Amino acid sequence: MNIWHNSGLEITKTHYDYIIVGAGASGLMLANALGKDAFFNDKSVLLLDKNPKNSNDRTWCFWEKGAGEFEPIVHQSWNTIFFGGQVYSKQLVIAPYTYKLIRGIDFYRYFIDKINSYSNIDFVNSKVLQVEEKNDIANVKTEAITYTCGQVFNSILEINKIQEQNKYPVLQQHFMGWVVKTKEPVFDPHVATFMDFSVDQKNNTRFMYALPFSKHSALLEYTLFSQNLLPKEDYENAIQEYLIKNLGCEDFEILEKEKGSIPMTNYKFHKHNTKRIQYIGTAGGWTKPSTGYTFFNTAKKTRSLVQSLKESKSITTLSSKWKFWFYDLLLLDILYKHNEKGHYIFETLFKNRSPQLIFKFLDEETNFWEDLQVISGCPKKEFLRAIYRRFIRKFS
Ligand SMILES: Cc1cc2nc3c(=O)[nH]c(=O)nc-3n(C[C@H](O)[C@H](O)[C@H](O)COP(=O)(O)OP(=O)(O)OC[C@H]3O[C@@H](n4cnc5c(N)ncnc54)[C@H](O)[C@@H]3O)c2cc1C
Repeated sequence: MNIWHNSGLEITKTHYDYIIVGAGASGLMLANALGKDAFFNDKSVLLLDKNPKNSNDRTWCFWEKGAGEFEPIVHQSWNTIFFGGQVYSKQLVIAPYTYKLIRGIDFYRYFIDKINSYSNIDFVNSKVLQVEEKNDIANVKTEAITYTCGQVFNSILEINKIQEQNKYPVLQQHFMGWVVKTKEPVFDPHVATFMDFSVDQKNNTRFMYALPFSKHSALLEYTLFSQNLLPKEDYENAIQEYLIKNLGCEDFEILEKEKGSIPMTNYKFHKHNTKRIQYIGTAGGWTKPSTGYTFFNTAKKTRSLVQSLKESKSITTLSSKWKFWFYDLLLLDILYKHNEKGHYIFETLFKNRSPQLIFKFLDEETNFWEDLQVISGCPKKEFLRAIYRRFIRKFS
């Protein structure tokens, strides 16, 4: 069978130095980081994905200080966010941070163009059936062919690994989003709604996330941090109700839809890494357990991974600092046991502390003194109880 490069050329090679499985956020960032770094010029790289990555399947947002590496593809950005609660709501200026949005399709095009320009990287569309390490070599079996390599970076998430354990709570950040166009001007394009907990909580942690592009258009995402997904109509009815009740808008058109379910867990993904197979992206535990944010963290982890490769360091772990891992665990423990308390915890925190401090904390860049300020800004009873429960169960 002939194998074709994503750009149309025939490929006959079956052995590579590195194989990257999955050309999503982490796979493309890693392939680009290897391709642009002269250190890896003599390394052959194969990037595999079952999907041609030519649809706008998701929207990524993150906060950042100043201009960054994704600037050419930032579609929209905001300097002010709105936090909405049941008793506390406020518009918050986030300088020196900016909240930025990237459309999936722009990201895929931009990175695939770059990757196609590196002569040592082949990008092949093929479904991967198995990845295994055998006789000191890694094998990647696709529908068409089995490749061999020295090192695999695998971004395929095997969700059963986390669902089959009960040591760490597993929640999902699950949501459905509509890009809508409204007849009347109902949005403020200068303010992104970060979390609006004024929606009916129905005994869960539920909020609306709204990213306006203009006075007449926005992406609205009905989002939950909870264990179980909802029937499709529940997300759709909630978005419709928000448009009508909260924004007073009955006349609108749906331009695009997206949905997602991101695992929120402290599960130690890195324990599946072996000498020749390393998991990356969400599959590698690069998702922040307490928020589901992954994109910007993936950019940071990619830099650390590439540095480890250059220094020939062990790359079996690239885990977070233990203290942040523990803070995330406490929040997830609370939300797992008392899902209805989510709005109260986030509302108390945003009422008591600045968004800048919260972003710094979520970026895992705060010192211990700043950690204490964040922690003391949260409801104390819930966290003290969560600490007590964890120590009784002897977490490890
Ligand atoms: C709709 C949506 C919106 C999100 N928004 C945000 C956000 O705003 N901010 C944020 O920080 N995070 C966000 N996330 C979370 C996270 O950033 C994304 O899920 C991100 O894409 C994860 O990157 P990844 O490389 O781990 O996985 P992916 O980007 O999903 O890449 C995995 C790749 O593997 C391929 N693949 C899967 N199985 C196979 C197979 N058998 N053979 C070959 N290829 C295969 C897939 O086609 C895919 O291209 C969002 C997630 C979703 C789903």
